[in-house]
Amino acid sequence: MTREGRPVFKTLARAARLRCPACGRASVFQSPFRVRPFCPACGTVFQREAGFFVGAIMLNVVTTEAAVLAAAGLCLLLLPGRAATLLSLLFAVALLFPVAFYHHSWSLWLAGDHLVEGLPRRRLDD
Ligand SMILES: [Zn+2]
Repeated sequence: MTREGRPVFKTLARAARLRCPACGRASVFQSPFRVRPFCPACGTVFQREAGFFVGAIMLNVVTTEAAVLAAAGLCLLLLPGRAATLLSLLFAVALLFPVAFYHHSWSLWLAGDHLVEGLPRRRLDD
């Protein structure tokens, strides 16, 4: 639990399910690649100031690099001496992983921000 009483495990579990990190009642996404501006259930703001989601992009890039390194290690162990196959597999991982991880990078970035400083709520007159 954080100092303000936000449970870490519950918040990360909500992020893993792509739900609002504050209440868990609504999805963070309104369509496959569009983040909601705010949670329709509790009013937590998902789209904050310009540049806020550079962190989500960074999280996706770093996780993709880790996935490529893990795939390279596995390929070197399982397919020694097959450089063409290795490069083809790594290229496929580098192309497909960031698309597959896109939603979770945004959701985890929101959850991390919620745990650190708390996401703002939408004002009633907005
Ligand atoms: Zn909510």
